[in-house]
Amino acid sequence: MTDAAAAPGRRPLVVLDKVNKHFGALHVLQDIDLTIGEGEVVVVIGPSGSGKSTLCRTINRLETFESGSITIDGRPLPTEGKELARLRADVGMVFQSFNLFAHKTIRENVTLGPVKVRGVARAEADRRAMELLERVGVAHQADKYPAQLSGGQQQRVAIARSLAMDPKVILFDEPTSALDPEMINEVLDVMTELARSGMTMVVVTHEMGFARRAADRVVFMADGQVVEQATPEEFFTNAQSTRARDFLAKIL
Ligand code: ADP
Ligand code: MG
Repeated sequence: MTDAAAAPGRRPLVVLDKVNKHFGALHVLQDIDLTIGEGEVVVVIGPSGSGKSTLCRTINRLETFESGSITIDGRPLPTEGKELARLRADVGMVFQSFNLFAHKTIRENVTLGPVKVRGVARAEADRRAMELLERVGVAHQADKYPAQLSGGQQQRVAIARSLAMDPKVILFDEPTSALDPEMINEVLDVMTELARSGMTMVVVTHEMGFARRAADRVVFMADGQVVEQATPEEFFTNAQSTRARDFLAKIL
C-alpha cells in the first residue's frame, strides 16, 4: 500500500522511502514507505514479530538498513559522531523497559542529556527538568533513584527525559507493556496530553483505547510490511485487509 493518504497538509518530518532491512535471511523491513507529518500522532500496531520495534530502532539509527532512505526534517540519517548524537536528541525514544540510568537520580536522568549533548547550562537544565517532572507528575520524586519509583513513575520520568532534549519527534515502543495494569493509564494520560500539545509521536502499542483517542493515523504492520494505514475511525470500523481484520478480531 502506498503512502498517499499520509499526513495531508502537514510538513513531512520523518520520511521513509523504500526502506529495506534484513536480519540474516529474515527480511524484517520490506520496502517501507512512511511519512510522519509535523505534529502528527501515528500509532503502529501489528502482530508480534512484524517489525515494529525494528522500525523504531531504524528511525533512531539504533539499527542500520540496507537500502532506501530515511530523512528527519529533510536531512538523511547521519551515521556517526556528533551528527548521530544530535539525531538521537532530535528523535527521542521511550522503551518498554524505561531504560533510566539506575545510578543517577531522577533529576540527573533528566538533566544529563541536555547538559552533555545540547550544551545547556546546568542551572537552566535543572529548572527545565523540574518543569518537565512537574508536567508528568513526579516532581516530588526528583531526588530519588529509579528503583525507588513505581514502573509507571519511571516511565513518566523516561518521557520527561526524552522531552528535555527538545526532540522533533518521540518514538514510543510499547511504553506500557511492562507495567502493572493499574499503572498503564497514568502513562497513557501523559502521552495523551503530549499528543494534544502538538508533539510529533510514533507509538507502537496494543492500547487500542489510546489509538482511538489520540492517534491521527493507525499504521498496521505485518511480516515486515506496512499493510494498511487509515484514521483510527476508519481502521477500527472498516479495516480493509484480511490480516488487519484477523488481528483486530484477536485483540478487540
Ligand atoms: P515486533 O516489535 O513487531 O514484535 P521486531 O521488530 O522486534 O518485531 O522483530 C521483527 C523480527 O525480527 C522478529 O522475527 C525478530 O525475531 C527479528 N529480530 C529482531 N531483532 C533481531 C536481531 N537483533 N537479530 C535477529 N533477528 C531479530
Ligand atoms: Mg516490539
